Amino acid sequence: MSNLDSHPDVLVCRTAADDHAVALVFAPRDVPLGGLRGIRVDRLLPQRTLPTVGAWCFLDLFGPNSTPMSVLPHPHTGLQTVTWLLAGQIHHRDSVGSDVLVRPGQLNLMTGGHGVAHSEISIDDGAPLHAMQLWVALPAAKAGMAPAFEQHVELPTYAHGGVTATVFVGTVGDVSSPATVHTPLLGADLRVAAHAATTVPLRPDFEHALLAIDDTLVVSGVAVPAGRMLYLGTGRAELALATDGRPVRALLLGGEPFPDELVMWWNFVGRSHDEIAAARADWEARGQTRFGTVHGHGGARIPAPDLPNVRLTPRRHGHRG
Ligand code: MN
Repeated sequence: MSNLDSHPDVLVCRTAADDHAVALVFAPRDVPLGGLRGIRVDRLLPQRTLPTVGAWCFLDLFGPNSTPMSVLPHPHTGLQTVTWLLAGQIHHRDSVGSDVLVRPGQLNLMTGGHGVAHSEISIDDGAPLHAMQLWVALPAAKAGMAPAFEQHVELPTYAHGGVTATVFVGTVGDVSSPATVHTPLLGADLRVAAHAATTVPLRPDFEHALLAIDDTLVVSGVAVPAGRMLYLGTGRAELALATDGRPVRALLLGGEPFPDELVMWWNFVGRSHDEIAAARADWEARGQTRFGTVHGHGGARIPAPDLPNVRLTPRRHGHRG
């Protein structure tokens, strides 16, 4: 999916490593994406005081919504996109030649690097679309890498005492995803059984956050209502999870605190205003070659919004250092 917001915020991910556990509950921002039949998303990341969790720098939760989703070709730089479906199906096409369907439980991982373009169109399979779009910031040494795409139809699961985790990025316990990422990172889709009281092992050097998707989940003593995200900081060796009479679905994110200062605007992640402005100009240039071509759309594409009349500047992480 694209950041279709026609007036995207200026966002910067600036971090400094620290080592302490916190428990801060964040509400989503309700973001109208405009144009496309009034589609709205819940934006969990970035937050004003929480630009990143590890290298995770963007998290949108969409639906469940019966409105078809049609996101025409648009560009990305400096990041990887993770498309993770809870229900429904999406047809993904990109400028490295991919043309695939993604279904719930499968991972689409696209690396933008120097520049990629893609489209995502929902397929009506009778289920309202319920999807998450995440972005992973690439480290400086990889930010300009060649674009790439990988799909993982089978992913491993970690199961212990009432929690089953589909590990789509990184490792839980002794279970590791085959997905290629470029910083130490974790992404797992948790299903916690009713009346569970269990734990999930964590890496203490990672910071973590947990999004409760469909019901309240008690996380290390903190009740996290559906649709809210709990930021946990670093320094935790495990996560205690408890439910009452209903099972709960949740998203667990983690990673080594991201060291770089990043500038995010529209669908670009960079390290300076000029870098972002150049990416925008390249996407808008007639006959551009940087982002390639997504076949099957007859030249239709999403134009870049205007840059703001100010230089894009940093935003600080409010809960570290
Ligand atoms: Mn996209």
